[in-house]
Amino acid sequence: MIGEEDEKILDLDVEEELSKGPPPELEQRIQYAANSGRFVLLWRDPLILVYLGENGDYVIVDGVYCSCEGFARRVSRRGIGGCSHIYAARRIFGENSGGRYRVVEASLEEVVLIVWEVLTGGLTHTLRKILYLQDKIQGRESSSGDETSKDR
Ligand SMILES: [Zn+2]
Repeated sequence: MIGEEDEKILDLDVEEELSKGPPPELEQRIQYAANSGRFVLLWRDPLILVYLGENGDYVIVDGVYCSCEGFARRVSRRGIGGCSHIYAARRIFGENSGGRYRVVEASLEEVVLIVWEVLTGGLTHTLRKILYLQDKIQGRESSSGDETSKDR
């Protein structure tokens, strides 16, 4: 069931807010996030990312949602639809893309588990484990600087 409060939130057009560009006070944090290499591409359609933060992990659905506190605060204040992660994700995967991210090969079941871990506990062990194993395998197959190294 959708309550009255939820409907208000659904009214807020995050996509439209994003198209206006980031508020200047977020710029520094957006740049940091975009270049941090902490984004992990989890799913391509819709675009779902995890940001492996220093103080916890966040799930980002492109143009729609981020599980960080900043996003919740901004949505509840209305009028401002983004947090630094949403804008940074836009910058990485947008038309003039730049920035660094990693890609994970995960099944739908693993994606669901990862999202659930982040939303309920603020941290995903499953994704860290997959990345760790992926790194080990890639490290064994190629020690040269191929294109995966830019994602680190
Ligand atoms: Zn966020």
